[in-house]
Amino acid sequence: MSVTVVGSIAFDAINTPFGERERALGGSAVHFSLAASFFTEVRPVGPVGDDFGPDEYAVLERHGVVTSDIEHVEGGQTFFWSGKYEWDLNTAHTLDTQLNVFGDFEPKLSDASRDSDLLFLANIQPDLQRDVRAQCAAQLAALDSMNFWIESARDSLIQTIAGVDMVLMNDAELRMLTEEPNLVKAATAVRAMGPRVVIAKQGEYGAALFTEDGFFALPAYPLETVRDPTGAGDSFAGGLMGYLDSQGGGLDDATLRRAMTYGSTLASFWVEEFGCERAERLTREEIDERYEHFKRITAIDSVPTTG
Ligand code: AMP
Repeated sequence: MSVTVVGSIAFDAINTPFGERERALGGSAVHFSLAASFFTEVRPVGPVGDDFGPDEYAVLERHGVVTSDIEHVEGGQTFFWSGKYEWDLNTAHTLDTQLNVFGDFEPKLSDASRDSDLLFLANIQPDLQRDVRAQCAAQLAALDSMNFWIESARDSLIQTIAGVDMVLMNDAELRMLTEEPNLVKAATAVRAMGPRVVIAKQGEYGAALFTEDGFFALPAYPLETVRDPTGAGDSFAGGLMGYLDSQGGGLDDATLRRAMTYGSTLASFWVEEFGCERAERLTREEIDERYEHFKRITAIDSVPTTG
């Protein structure tokens, strides 16, 4: 099994109350791929410029990420995003977005990427997401997006959503997309667009799952140290989709709950350090240990019977 992901491959300038980085490796497809690599084979699709060199490829390849569908655009510059977080780390303030090589990107998937079982359309122009969906035969396709695209390409985004099985978006963005302040109604409205499953990411408050017959919610893992939330959403999606792929891609509620727990576990490691720095030292053992702890802190017993 393998997962194909299309999304930004980026350099990020990040500023949080706990430090800053001028040029961190980032982008939705990068965070996603590194997180999913702990569970399965991942194939990111996207363009990079001349400034994306061997050091950046090496970070991905050390995790076994297949980089052959990353397209080098000669003379181009890699996507650049600059963001700042206040003490409320839940909200990123975008200072600058430079699409650069994404400006005229036309995705061309290799045969191997077309044949992936799962497809993740990470945060990028919705027309591009749809183009990739049309090229990939995946049995399960999921999508993420953000306010930037809801504001600038809303109709295209709604059309793209109609062609996927699962939507993972921030709660505020689900509300914005549907113009529905109530999250339960917003999730229902998105499911009415086509997808069977909606997952609302709620930052430090966790995530909520909406399916035809179920609801599930998970808090975020309780951390004392959070330095940089960049990539939390994409590492959540990477952990979730990577685990689903390792289980054959089934979308039953029990599997989805475990996948969400893995997603939340990955995101919790991501935010402890800047960009994807924590991924460098992360091991599957640490992930499984935190998963087990998650299980213990979220379990509820039945009320004991008296008598
Ligand atoms: P998140 O997981 O939501 O924190 O996403 C963080 C990543 O999204 C950063 O590494 C950015 O490079 C990337 N990003 C920010 N804005 C955009 C955008 N408009 N399109 C695609 N990727 C973006």
